[in-house]
Amino acid sequence: MTKSLALSKTDYKIARSCLTKLYYRLRKYPSNVDGDEYMELLAQDGYMIGAIASLLFPDAVLVDEPDHDKAVQLTHQYLQQENVTLLEAAFESGGKFARPDILIKQGIHLTLIEVKAKSFDSSKENILRNKKGGIIPEWLPYLEDITFQAIILRELFPASTLTCELMMPDKSRTTSINNLHALFALNLIKEDDSGYPRARFTFKGDVELLRENHFLTRLNVDLEAGELTPEVSSTAAAFFNSMNPLTKIPVPISFACKDCEYRVEEDETPNGFRECWGELADPKPHLLDLYHGGTVKAVNELIGSGKTGLFDLSESALGKKNGSMGTIASRQLIQMRHTKDNTEWIDPALGDILASYSYPLHFIDFETSALAVPYHAGMKPFENVAFQWSCHTITAPGAEPKHAEWINIRETFPNFAFAESLMDYLGRSGTVFTWAKHENTILKSVLEQMEGRHKNAALKDWLEWMTDSRMVDMNQLTLNHYFHPVMKGRTSIKKVLDAIWRANPSLRSHFPEYVKEENGEMLSPYKALPPSTIAEKEVVVNEGTGAIRAYQSMLYGQKLDPDIRDQWKNLLLQYCKLDTLAMVMIYWHWSEKLHVL
Ligand code: SF4
Repeated sequence: MTKSLALSKTDYKIARSCLTKLYYRLRKYPSNVDGDEYMELLAQDGYMIGAIASLLFPDAVLVDEPDHDKAVQLTHQYLQQENVTLLEAAFESGGKFARPDILIKQGIHLTLIEVKAKSFDSSKENILRNKKGGIIPEWLPYLEDITFQAIILRELFPASTLTCELMMPDKSRTTSINNLHALFALNLIKEDDSGYPRARFTFKGDVELLRENHFLTRLNVDLEAGELTPEVSSTAAAFFNSMNPLTKIPVPISFACKDCEYRVEEDETPNGFRECWGELADPKPHLLDLYHGGTVKAVNELIGSGKTGLFDLSESALGKKNGSMGTIASRQLIQMRHTKDNTEWIDPALGDILASYSYPLHFIDFETSALAVPYHAGMKPFENVAFQWSCHTITAPGAEPKHAEWINIRETFPNFAFAESLMDYLGRSGTVFTWAKHENTILKSVLEQMEGRHKNAALKDWLEWMTDSRMVDMNQLTLNHYFHPVMKGRTSIKKVLDAIWRANPSLRSHFPEYVKEENGEMLSPYKALPPSTIAEKEVVVNEGTGAIRAYQSMLYGQKLDPDIRDQWKNLLLQYCKLDTLAMVMIYWHWSEKLHVL
């Protein structure tokens, strides 16, 4: 007789977002999370936090067994002791399986500790609840996770008392350990018996120092776990039933499917999205391409009635009942009309706006990192590190852009040197352009970081001046004044550049080094960036997460090899340089179209 499939806490979490996904996960359908750099980076950060948490319990015993059944048996043996602390213990009850990060047994009292790489601020009260006393939705996945485990423990040990705690990076604490991030080594990656990889980090630094200087805080969540128990218990039972026998439970498709992780490339098989949507996945342009489509009530009604083409939506469905159009609806209308005509839209009003900007025009971009495990002493978890800037400057109408850049290559907190070099370069003249608000946010955080840590009155004054609505957001200009059908519902710099790069041959002849075609198709300049071969692997940096990884590799990787360090540095420089050149290209394209000198 085959053993029933047990519901793990990860299964529970995935099924909670959509029950059909549980089937795809257990059948190991391809997902766009597989190999996703950002998800991997977050996972690694989480594993490091897990490693720190386990080191805080010096007497803890690791249940080092990937096989579920053997791990359950081993846990059972360890729990014969009166007092014991277990890491990755294994429990199964009523078809539910979990491996709590930390379990402390003291006689009949159990303390369940779930470690999360989510930040919180222990100096603030009542962080889990809103003013009306309800649990804040962003905390629900974490609280349901620990509730799921608490339910299993209560079923197995009804005579025991139980305390539930989350342990998380605390933004009111700092570390005094320098280069903490570099003191971890990824020493083991193995798959558990459900086939999903598990990574483990070992700490190469001074463990006693870490115990005295860590930044994790435990938060009691007994009340919340108690409140969520009935709901989690009945939901878990329904999920378990769908697994035994494994059955695909169809969930009504909706606009929420847009970001489904099983929305993989059309030709990939098996294809979860395709199975859910069938022929409704086919129309081009698709209703899921609509800018902020989830805000339009008629969108889900149309999907429910089997119509999924963008032009199945009537323009009248975009407005309010009184016929007026808000900002989002106006953008949607432009998208629909200009997609139908296959025409670019450039608002004539943009001409006067561009003409009003004073020279020099500076186009800036930052590369930054904010991870749970800080790089430097004195830092809080998730504190921003600004490690690189690039700027293209056009000094006068018709002038060629000049490039300037700065990158940190030392193992020290770089933010003040970063901001000082930027201040020295930009000064206070002309107009500074960014794409979105990130640069403003970073400069504001550098200003806060200066408090009590760095004295430089001129810098403080300049940062206050710069962050006082000084920068022009080109993403906002795009949203208000520009659309091209290639962009669909998106306005990221990469999408906009891709559109104008194809549309504007003069740009391509001006910057031939970024021209690359594949199978007769013009590639985006980001895809034309030349790779480097590092440790026999071809690598290229062409997005933000890749830049963070490259920075870590440059500073903490094979740092004894200056050539490899230089290769990472050059990859970072060429990527950030293109980000600001992309802004120049877009600006030029707009100026050319609107005859702005
Ligand atoms: S496509 Fe939609 S219904 Fe299907 S698994 Fe994804 S989110 Fe669920």
